[in-house]
Amino acid sequence: MQSTPPAVPLPPGFRWPDGIRAAATFTFDLDAEAAMLADHPSTAAYLDTMAHQRYGPRTAVPRLLRMLDRQGIRATFFIPGWVAEQWPAAARSIRDAGHEIGHHGYLHESVRGLDEAAEERALVRGFEALDAVLGVRPTGYRAPSWDLNWRTPALLAKHGFRYSSNLMDADHPYRLAVGPERGAATLIELPVHWALDDWEPYNYLPGITGTGVILSPAVVLARWTLELEALAAEGGLFNLTNHPFVSGRASRAVALEQLIERARAIDGMWVASCDEIASWAATLDLPPVVHEPPVLPDRDVVPG
Ligand code: ZN
Repeated sequence: MQSTPPAVPLPPGFRWPDGIRAAATFTFDLDAEAAMLADHPSTAAYLDTMAHQRYGPRTAVPRLLRMLDRQGIRATFFIPGWVAEQWPAAARSIRDAGHEIGHHGYLHESVRGLDEAAEERALVRGFEALDAVLGVRPTGYRAPSWDLNWRTPALLAKHGFRYSSNLMDADHPYRLAVGPERGAATLIELPVHWALDDWEPYNYLPGITGTGVILSPAVVLARWTLELEALAAEGGLFNLTNHPFVSGRASRAVALEQLIERARAIDGMWVASCDEIASWAATLDLPPVVHEPPVLPDRDVVPG
């Protein structure tokens, strides 16, 4: 396939496979009830909230799998271990359709509030659940709510992850060093962004999340198409985060399918799962990016 080269220089060391000028990956975080149980434990007592979340595995996953099959693309589903245990048939249907399974915590716990031992326990328990239910060992990690602490990348490398899909500082895949020392282990980072997440425009649970302003799928499709086309022109990675209970609703799934059709129609666009894109990036000689905590000024120079 011939394609127009990107209009702007790519980051040092980065290139796409021959004939490719940009990539798109469509991801689904199968949060189900876990997102509510982790952040709002009292919702375990609410039939209405639990049923709202169960729309994902009960109703949306079959619809989304049919849609992805029509489009002939491989997606990535990040599944909390607890969700796989509670919804084994839905989880297996995703695996059996050939999609990638990624790690998404155990009970969708934020690692911001966990000590190192608790963070590692959640990671290991997530692995154990995905192995028990699906016989799968994920190579990719998406943190619940994209919350990371400064220790997390090293923990991911220790447990053999190849990539992370959590950070918002780039438009292209990059090599993330897990520490500042020379020779530190690295992961491939597949960057994300809140504007490419379905939760913000669509999701509303009174008193829990959202403003009550639910956008039309036509508006969301237009917004995401602009970003898709702009990133294609930049030779970047369009990494869309969906949640089955959110984007699996009927008209939203239609809009999502239209977006996938548009991505597939772009000359030189590679539509692939996260592990396929991370595997490509891992072959490149990319200079490691080191993230370190900010050096804070002396307190006596901080205003206020
Ligand atoms: Zn999630």
